[in-house]
Amino acid sequence: MTAIALSRLHFPVTTLGPGRRIGIWTQGCSLRCPGCLSPETWRFRREKTPVADVIAHLRPWLAQADGITVSGGEPFDQPQALAALLTAIRAEFHGDILVFSGYPFPVLNDELARMTGLIDALMSEPFEQDAPQTLRLRGSDNQRLHLLTPLGETCFARYNAPLPADEKVLDLAIDDAGVVSLIGIPRRDDMQRLNEFLTDRGHSFTPVLRDNKDRNRSL
Ligand code: SF4
Repeated sequence: MTAIALSRLHFPVTTLGPGRRIGIWTQGCSLRCPGCLSPETWRFRREKTPVADVIAHLRPWLAQADGITVSGGEPFDQPQALAALLTAIRAEFHGDILVFSGYPFPVLNDELARMTGLIDALMSEPFEQDAPQTLRLRGSDNQRLHLLTPLGETCFARYNAPLPADEKVLDLAIDDAGVVSLIGIPRRDDMQRLNEFLTDRGHSFTPVLRDNKDRNRSL
């Protein structure tokens, strides 16, 4: 049975594509872009979740979701598991699927050919911390949005555009263990502004690199 290493699952996500979305973050990234804001997702783990268990976990959300966003980690570091997961999702879900990858687009050609029809829109290219950050859905403007299906064209063509001021937002989620996560594409100074906001109100701010093994086990 195919299994996938996951960092976390969340619904609803409103900051990573149109509508109310399911967020799927894979665990493990070999690219290690300087300045990455998700280094807790880099480490590869033996613990994996069977795809059937992931689908069972997602099923209550699928009927409510407009789309699904898969990010990482690096989803294409587990290409067979990614394909199995997306195939299973496609069998039950008719919304759009957006996948983020840090690989250059030409590197993904073969894998994408094997996944034809499974991904509606793909964001490719590594995060570059010194590049400008002015475009929608990008952590850096070198990242490229590819519209791979007609549904991808419909849902994401408008995302090849500058980021409007009212989209400079992040979702905030608190899990059962009380861990607070910011979900979305952070602006470069968001962490500093959050630190200042909390410090001004008498709170301390300590970013935590979370160990995700318990999350994988709990699915
Ligand atoms: S590909 Fe994504 S998760 Fe991996 S290092 Fe780059 S920004 Fe971070």
